[in-house]
Amino acid sequence: MPPPARNAAGQERLVADLRAAGCVFAEDEAAVLLASTDDPAELAALLARRVAGEPLEQVVGWAQFGAVRVPVEPGVFVPRQRSRLLVDLALATVPAPRTVVDLCCGSGALGAAVAAALAGPLELHAADLDAAAVRCATRTLEPFGGRVHRGDLYDALPGELRGRVDLLLVNAPYVPTVAIGLMPPEARLHEPRTALDGGTDGLDLHRRVAAGAPGWLAPGGALVLETSEDQAERTAAAVRAAGLDPRVHRCADLDATAVVGVRPPGPRTLA
Ligand code: GLN
Repeated sequence: MPPPARNAAGQERLVADLRAAGCVFAEDEAAVLLASTDDPAELAALLARRVAGEPLEQVVGWAQFGAVRVPVEPGVFVPRQRSRLLVDLALATVPAPRTVVDLCCGSGALGAAVAAALAGPLELHAADLDAAAVRCATRTLEPFGGRVHRGDLYDALPGELRGRVDLLLVNAPYVPTVAIGLMPPEARLHEPRTALDGGTDGLDLHRRVAAGAPGWLAPGGALVLETSEDQAERTAAAVRAAGLDPRVHRCADLDATAVVGVRPPGPRTLA
């Protein structure tokens, strides 16, 4: 198709093409595409990728997450607006953290949003299994002095963080394997399976994250874990079984659910 013109008629065509491709927020998406390039040929190429089903954020290479703009390469999990609940809960639970870890960090949006909200100095770490995610998160966290590690959950973290983490932010995969096929094509076809698939009941990673958390959290530190409304009680049970005190939070506006598990203040006692 010829490159869309940057006049009113061209903009209408762009919106119409996006709408025809099934984009619900076609006007908003058109504005993002238009703001991404001045070159008509590049605009046409971006539109073609979006119309073919790639997530808008991967097409333009960034996503807005609260106050931060994060890079999102093709094949990297797109930060969901619902995950802003984790940022609010983290800061409400531990208002002045010194050490923050974003585990299963993807593009690094959670760590960056917490760091951006804090005035004081912060030791910030993030980790992910996926190389492209680690590349994006490295760019995201660079302005905050954050370090990004590649590896499987806690195995990726430097050992000197044990017992010192004030906030452990985790958006681990929690979609039950059978439900992956029901996800929108943007997720199913363009995000890594490892960022979505949480195993048979979706909670494989939650159980592992919860079991490891007490060893890494500082006294009074908090695990903040995204889950779904249906799975929340089972996520909370895994957090309780690990010895943390869990609370389920739900935000209807964001359609978001999270479990916060606090490590009791004071020295750990042997049971
Ligand atoms: N239900 C989530 C979503 O697509 C899945 C994200 C995840 O597994 N962390 O928003």
